[in-house]
Amino acid sequence: MHTPDAHGWRAAGQRVLAHLPSQCAICRAWPAQRVCDACAARFAQPRPRCTGCALPLPAPGLRCGACLQAPLALQTCVAAVDYAWPWDGILAQFKFHADPGWAAMLAGLMASTPWAGPLLDAADVLVPVPLSRERLRARGFNQSLLLARQLGARKTDAALLLRLHDTPAQSGLARAQRLRNLAGALAVEPLRAPALQGRQVLLVDDVMTTGATLQAAALALRQAGAAQVSALVLARTPPAGAD
Ligand SMILES: [Zn+2]
Ligand SMILES: [Zn+2]
Repeated sequence: MHTPDAHGWRAAGQRVLAHLPSQCAICRAWPAQRVCDACAARFAQPRPRCTGCALPLPAPGLRCGACLQAPLALQTCVAAVDYAWPWDGILAQFKFHADPGWAAMLAGLMASTPWAGPLLDAADVLVPVPLSRERLRARGFNQSLLLARQLGARKTDAALLLRLHDTPAQSGLARAQRLRNLAGALAVEPLRAPALQGRQVLLVDDVMTTGATLQAAALALRQAGAAQVSALVLARTPPAGAD
């Protein structure tokens, strides 16, 4: 059924619909943003995390045992949510169903996480964790780049850090072995290294599983001249036993 549209309200409605999907992806409330305010308040409640690797801790501003024992290339790491329901499913929609429409909502979640604001303000450059060329071709877009652009398009530099090759699945390996596997997988583009000297870099990623990739990226950036490297990630895999 068509309603007379003399005043163009239907066009206005379509503009709104382009930005506001009709249902909350979690509770199916309608109409709502992609995640309604109630679900965001319920499922994205900030929690204290290790300042080195973003694992949940009982109190804010602490480092976990592993981070206290092993010196980290990352200055600080902030995560918005746990990589668990409902965010794992939402991230799958974002990544594997080629739905970049999620980027603004998810980046908003990252930016509103405690301690994320100062990191974003202090950063001279936002560096999305890169995909290998093969992975990028298969997926069609780098989800971390989409998030970084939403967090600060003018500061985002996706050409600074390169992923030279993929690494085999890392789960089950010790931290030292994971870092060895990643050595050489991430490198700074030599042509861009001068722009890195003395800069504050903020790495941006969607999911942090063990942190080995972020550590390898931070090492490469520090060795190439960055003054400080921190990370802001959307979701952190919660501890599933010993890591
Ligand atoms: Zn909801
Ligand atoms: Zn830690």
